[in-house]
Amino acid sequence: MGVEETLKKYSWILPLIQKADRATRSMIMKNFRQKKANFFPKGEYKADVDNLIKCMLCPNMCRFDCGTLQASLTETMSPAYKARIGYYLTTGKIDPMKKENKAFIDLMYKCTNEENCKVWCPFDFSVVSLLETVRDDLNDKGLMPDYCKQQIDKLNKTNTIEEYNIYETYKEKGIENIETDGKDEVFYYIGCESMKFPEVVKANIQILKRAGIKFSTNLEKKVCCGGPGFNIRDLGTANKFALKNKELIESTGANIIVSDCPGCIVTLKSRYEKIGIKIEKEIVHIVQYFRNLLDDGKLSIKNSIPEDFRKVTIHDPCLIARNLNDTESIRGILTMVPDLEIIEPVYNKEYVHCCGWSGTAHWADKELAIKEARNRVDELKETGMNIFITACPLCELGLAYGIEETEKEKYKILDISELLIKIL
Ligand code: SF4
Ligand code: SF4
Repeated sequence: MGVEETLKKYSWILPLIQKADRATRSMIMKNFRQKKANFFPKGEYKADVDNLIKCMLCPNMCRFDCGTLQASLTETMSPAYKARIGYYLTTGKIDPMKKENKAFIDLMYKCTNEENCKVWCPFDFSVVSLLETVRDDLNDKGLMPDYCKQQIDKLNKTNTIEEYNIYETYKEKGIENIETDGKDEVFYYIGCESMKFPEVVKANIQILKRAGIKFSTNLEKKVCCGGPGFNIRDLGTANKFALKNKELIESTGANIIVSDCPGCIVTLKSRYEKIGIKIEKEIVHIVQYFRNLLDDGKLSIKNSIPEDFRKVTIHDPCLIARNLNDTESIRGILTMVPDLEIIEPVYNKEYVHCCGWSGTAHWADKELAIKEARNRVDELKETGMNIFITACPLCELGLAYGIEETEKEKYKILDISELLIKIL
């Protein structure tokens, strides 16, 4: 914001200052001049203190829509409160080194990355992005929580976010591995979480084949995108994964990278760039790619939808809706399907509520994430539909936690490709 705009924005304060007595006026000016000395920490730090202060002084305008606040029903979880604790930890008003303050450190990780706060924030803040800068300082002080260290250990040991290399399970899951010959049109970039849903991966492979696309999957060489390293802010680990992925992507010769995981796309597309690694390719979510193939006539709907799959609602993955700004690809495909009844949930598109499984919250507090998942499932159930269509493996995981055991037969979570393969 330029000087002129700043003066305009704060012009309302001038009449108040003019009305104040001399001593008050001088105190205001003195405090304003000494802002940095009085309110900012001394020494080296990475936290975005300026914006943490702005957020913590806000009357919490976005709090009504914060998923973790709704799940916990405690004010501690509200966005401005998290910013306030982040500020206190950074300035040492809460000493992060003291054992009794561990709960405050944990709070810095209890964000589900869904950024509902950003939708409503007049400053365009994403609280999780502010908290990430606090995590940077905590990591530098050796205070990374154990549940984050465990994820980093898994990444370093298995190249995935599991105790074992989940890509190696492709044979037992019946997923075809297609090695590149260096001349691919498309690299189908399978997310490590997507490997937990082999039917989705198999459907995607079949659909790409039906469209006549020359593609590879490279499961023998595939590694995680490094997204968890970015969330935890272990940028050394994230950098290592970015370099491995860049090399693999370039070896395929493909100009289009298509992934089934929105988290991978955000990581490949924008998070790598923030650490100076650029992937010069078109990177798209598979739902957008399939929509284009349908529009171009490379795919066509030939079969009618089975009776049991005719009533659906849509759960927009927040990373697709809010980070990739695409709420139309899913709907574009579904509206092409004859005899399909779609009822939208109240919170949809860019206003979608999170499944609970994004970010670091499910590691920091699994019960909290499950409550958030239940809240979202309740919203989807309110539509009266029994099939929840989504396009993200983490949403499938989260929503599954949100459905009670006794209701597992009644409600189904389906990736859009599982529906699409039935009618092509
Ligand atoms: S994210 Fe924005 S709207 Fe929400 S509490 Fe912070 S400053 Fe206020
Ligand atoms: S990112 Fe989500 S959980 Fe975190 S403060 Fe914003 S709305 Fe709340």
